Amino acid sequence: MSLVKSYWLEQQEREAAAARIAVQAGVLLECSYCGELIDLFGDITDAYRLANHLISKGEGGLGSNRRAVTDAIKAAVDNAGFECRCDATWRRDGV
Ligand SMILES: [Zn+2]
Repeated sequence: MSLVKSYWLEQQEREAAAARIAVQAGVLLECSYCGELIDLFGDITDAYRLANHLISKGEGGLGSNRRAVTDAIKAAVDNAGFECRCDATWRRDGV
């Protein structure tokens, strides 16, 4: 595997783990229907704290780069919408 590819995979894994942590910390909500992440406007520092805790224990598939994990959590929260796609569908269909 090329170095670029393994870096890319590591990045993908870190982003997935960061999203899970944000959900666990109550900052994001993962829709149980479509799986999209919704911003709950929680305190992002709760997610950072949880991530630090997991990194210290060597858990959560986060590796040891705290800075990269913090950035990944911030990106996950920034990328989350205010509603998920099925939310929007229900609204449009008037259900
Ligand atoms: Zn949804």
